[in-house]
Amino acid sequence: MPIGLVIHGGAGDVKADERAARLEAVRAAAQAAWTPLQQGRSALDAVELAVRSMESNPLLNAGYGGALNRDGVVELDAMIMDGRTAHIGAVAAVHRIEHPVALARHIMEHTPHHLLVGDGAERFAAEQGFALVDPVDLIAPRRRQLPTVAQDTSGDTVGAVALDSQGNVAVAVSTGGIDGKLPGRVGDSPIAGAGGYAENDLGAASATGVGEGIMRSLLTFRAVQALQDSGSAQAAAQQALDIFVRRFDGVGGLILIDRQGGIGIVHNTPFMPVAYVVGEQIVAQIAGQGMVGHP
Ligand code: ASP
Repeated sequence: MPIGLVIHGGAGDVKADERAARLEAVRAAAQAAWTPLQQGRSALDAVELAVRSMESNPLLNAGYGGALNRDGVVELDAMIMDGRTAHIGAVAAVHRIEHPVALARHIMEHTPHHLLVGDGAERFAAEQGFALVDPVDLIAPRRRQLPTVAQDTSGDTVGAVALDSQGNVAVAVSTGGIDGKLPGRVGDSPIAGAGGYAENDLGAASATGVGEGIMRSLLTFRAVQALQDSGSAQAAAQQALDIFVRRFDGVGGLILIDRQGGIGIVHNTPFMPVAYVVGEQIVAQIAGQGMVGHP
């Protein structure tokens, strides 16, 4: 059985002096997930490990270093979806969770619910033994320089999709959302079918970009369904992105993996750092338009 992995570090703009560090961030995330995947761990474990790695990186908009809302507070959203069971765990608008993706998985595996938000999510986390951090400790120094007025731009959200040796696919997504967002604003990232979607019969996708358009277009659901009649994962991803841009005025990108390990990477932003595996080799790139097909 083929295995596969694709990681992104957010569709947006990337300053020239940050490119190397962003490539290193996605490469490290791929590395954290790839060895376990090769050793037979599940796609679900792999996507969680990749996203946890990126949540710890202050350069990326997830976990520590997430975007600040209008009040100057890091407010985090995340989701995970298991293509085997089609179950979802998600968390939104939390301020005191260092690894929202881990809490999302815990919600999926230990509650009858799919999405917990805000105070209730944090109370559940504390009850279940997650450490609650001081919200100030999630603010990376570089974020203090950025404006806290709503930007209609985004970037640096993180996501991962994987296929494991049992033929199962999974997706995980984590974000601080959009700089200067209204407190309480939740974007696409924790919403199944929008920020991420996984279905074993077809594949798994993770989206990034301006969340409102991604929610309206159900971008990742659309991309995964497009695998049914597209010739390749790249063609399916492109088909979904084209509709997202044309019909929903979308700005962003997505990564996609199919059940044979074919991958798609597309975006209409200037940059999207990605990492994926070809053979045994982890490749990290600032993705250009339509550049990747089946490895
Ligand atoms: N999609 C995220 C959001 O709107 C932002 C991003 O991808 O950078 O919350």
